[in-house]
Amino acid sequence: FLTGKTAVVTGSNSGIGLGVARQLARAGANLVLNSFTDRDEDHALADRLAAEHGVSARYIKADMSRPDECRALVEQAGQCDILVNNAGIQFVSPIPDFPVEKWDAIIAINLSSAFHTTAAALPDMRKAGWGRVVNIASAHGLTASPFKSAYVAAKHGIVGLTKVTALETAQEPITCNAICPGYVLTPLVEAQIPDTMKEYGMSREEVIKKVMLERQPSKEFATVEEMGDTAVFLCSQAAAQITGTTISVDGGWTAL
Ligand code: NAD
Repeated sequence: FLTGKTAVVTGSNSGIGLGVARQLARAGANLVLNSFTDRDEDHALADRLAAEHGVSARYIKADMSRPDECRALVEQAGQCDILVNNAGIQFVSPIPDFPVEKWDAIIAINLSSAFHTTAAALPDMRKAGWGRVVNIASAHGLTASPFKSAYVAAKHGIVGLTKVTALETAQEPITCNAICPGYVLTPLVEAQIPDTMKEYGMSREEVIKKVMLERQPSKEFATVEEMGDTAVFLCSQAAAQITGTTISVDGGWTAL
């Protein structure tokens, strides 16, 4: 049902972004994939998704830590009916030791990039008379954990941005919502395991069961396909009046 629509998914050569892009393509959407690299395999990934799903797909390099490149991504896409703000990084450290450049990078990539892409995309959506903005926030957009100051601040920020975007488009056929995943086993989560092992003095298994899934009552990682299917739902007619809210896909984390 998304045939003819174009979805721009930031940070989509891996993890949740790729999972969301794939499910949108399954529903018929053309894709613009993105990350900050420009490797043959990035472009090959777009070609593969296009062939698998019979849609058109392009990869555009743009660094989401740079405001001009965020805006250029949407401009180069040519059409942006569905904007998925997914690019994100993580860094774990107590506040006094938290490196300033890591704080700045996380705020830029996980929060400010969504402001810039949304600013660039809304005029296109208004011209087209339809639009969907889906922000990939986190359970950490609604709750907190120690040692994740920048990430938790950015994710709470993106939930706020989601509400403002929804209010500014409330009387138009445009919606903006945030998906709040719990733990999904992606490269981003994988990369946190060594630091968390050090922080808590635990083995890998203990970190997964006692730290990561400790707060996820389902005791299962959520999947990138589930994030993608939630994004597809938010693009459907059934979700036309769902705007300015969060959907938790977190195995019960935020119910605790
Ligand atoms: P990931 O590391 O697999 O993917 C992150 C993506 O962002 C990659 O494609 C990466 O290339 C891209 N990216 C990083 N820096 C970028 C930059 N400067 N410019 C453009 N792209 C950049 O991680 P993931 O787990 O798939 O995370 C995706 C999103 O989901 C993030 O916003 C993350 O905070 C959020 N999230 C993840 C989890 C989880 O458990 N994995 C939970 C909640 C929220």
